[in-house]
Formats: sequence, structure tokens, C-alpha cells
Amino acid sequence: MQKASTLDELHKILKNWRIQKKSLALVPTMGALHKGHLSLIKIAKQHADLVAVTIFVNPTQFGPNEDLHSYPRTLEQDFKLLQQESIDLVFYPHENEIYGPQFQTFVSNKKLNNCLCGASRPNFFQGVCTICTKLFNLVKPDFAVFGKKDYQQFKIIEQLVNDLHFDVKIIPGPIIREHDGLATSSRNRYLSNEERNLAPKIYQTLTMIKNLFDDNQRNANKLVSLAKNELTQITGFSLDYCEIRSSNNLTLLDETINQDCLMFVAGYLGKTRLIDNIELTLKEHR
Ligand code: AMP
Repeated sequence: MQKASTLDELHKILKNWRIQKKSLALVPTMGALHKGHLSLIKIAKQHADLVAVTIFVNPTQFGPNEDLHSYPRTLEQDFKLLQQESIDLVFYPHENEIYGPQFQTFVSNKKLNNCLCGASRPNFFQGVCTICTKLFNLVKPDFAVFGKKDYQQFKIIEQLVNDLHFDVKIIPGPIIREHDGLATSSRNRYLSNEERNLAPKIYQTLTMIKNLFDDNQRNANKLVSLAKNELTQITGFSLDYCEIRSSNNLTLLDETINQDCLMFVAGYLGKTRLIDNIELTLKEHR
């Protein structure tokens, strides 16, 4: 595993690989690596000769009252995990390397951004689109893997790549969960024991909705109201959104569901923001 923290180091390694005509898959992360991230690395390996992982807590995607400074940073432990996965390169730039003092150009999405996390976290997806644009330009990967835990992010990056003609194929990875169903997340370590015991109720609610959907309950409003009823009973959970939106372009569905879609949930358990989703797939597509 090669390590690069400066653009010079990165460029030297990539130049050598390009001469060898090796295909490259990128897994962008903010570190504090867990089995969700490692699952994306395994997918990356299936697609390309070489795998690069980036670790960068991207300041432009955090709001002023969010957890940029307390976000977990576990670089040495991350290196150990990456070494075990036998990846080829880890790029872990310092903030100044990516955003110099003269930095002034951002990339933003104008449509998919307007709902879900984009509506609750202004500038979040602008930060995400900007850092992904930078990483695609710097690393020039053939593939990039994104988790469906952040489904809206995956769709926005897919759109970015189409709209701006990046020559990279975006590959989604399934949501990885803890033994009790809680979606694995770097932020789960913020949860108190009590909150950690309550957190799986989010996935339990999503599973209940999927079971009803699979039993032919296709009324979106009804499913949302049943889910909200469960979620608002979780002690200390303040719901941000619970919505059903189409898989292809995140259109809000509020009548009879006649296309593949997902139920999306976000909220704060105490001070910790948790997000999750479940795919609702019509039988004929399963
Ligand atoms: P993050 O470090 O949280 O920015 O996440 C980096 C990548 O890992 C993103 O593509 C996330 O969607 C993905 N990811 C995070 N948690 C999970 C999970 N539980 N299952 C699958 N992918 C995940």
C-alpha cells in the first residue's frame, strides 16, 4: 500500500500506474473506517486492477453548527485496516492541499439537491460535489464506488458525472448494517449506550414498511404515516424527514406507488444525526 498526503506524491504514483495502463477504482471516504467502507473496497477490487482510498474530512460539506471539529479522526487505525484489505493507495491530504487560501470555485446540483438531506443541510451537497469533482480530477479513476446508505449522494454524484462528462463509472454498494440492523456509520460512536439500544428501531420501522409494501400496501401516504407513528415514539429521536421517493430521480411519491422507490429517514437521536433508507421494489422488477 502506497501512501500520499501531498498532490506531488499522488501525481508521481498515478503517473507510474498510467504508464502501466492499469485500471483504477476510487473509494472516497472521510475516514474513521468501518465495515461499510471496507465493503466498498471489496466492490472496487472486483472492477479494477488497482484500488485507491481517499481519507479527507471535507470542511465544505459541514454546516457552521455541525460536527466538523469533533468528527472522528482515526488515521493510524484506518491505515491498519486498509493495509489488511491490501489496497494500492491511500490519499489523505491536509486541508490546505485541497483548499488553498485562494479557493473560490464550487460545484453544485440544482435539482436532486432540493430534497431530503439537501433541504435540511444547506451547502452539504455543494461540498460533496466540489470534493468529488476535485478527487475525480486528481485521481482520474475509471470507477468510483459510493454506498447506498447515502442514496441521495450516490444519485447526485451519478448526475454530476453525467452533467460534467467525467470519464468515471459510478458503482453503488449496498448498505452494511450492525447485527441488530443499525446502518453502520462513523457517527454511531457518538451514541450513548441508551441511544445505541434505541437506534435499531429506525431499521425495524423501515423493515415493517417494506413488509407491508411487499404485502401489496401501495399507498405512499399511508406507509409514511405508519412509519412516522413508529419513529416519533423512539425516546429522544427528533425526526427530520420520512418520505418515499422514486429510485430513479427522487420524485416525492404521495399516492399509489407504481414504480421502484425508497423510504428515506433522517433525524437526530440526541445530538447524533442518523440517516437510513430501504428499497421498495415492485415484484415484477425483483
Ligand atoms: P463517509 O466516510 O461517511 O463519507 O462515507 C464514505 C462512503 O462510504 C460513502 O460512499 C458512504 O455512502 C459509504 N458508507 C458509509 N456507511 C456505509 C454503510 N453502512 N454501508 C455502505 N456504505 C457506507
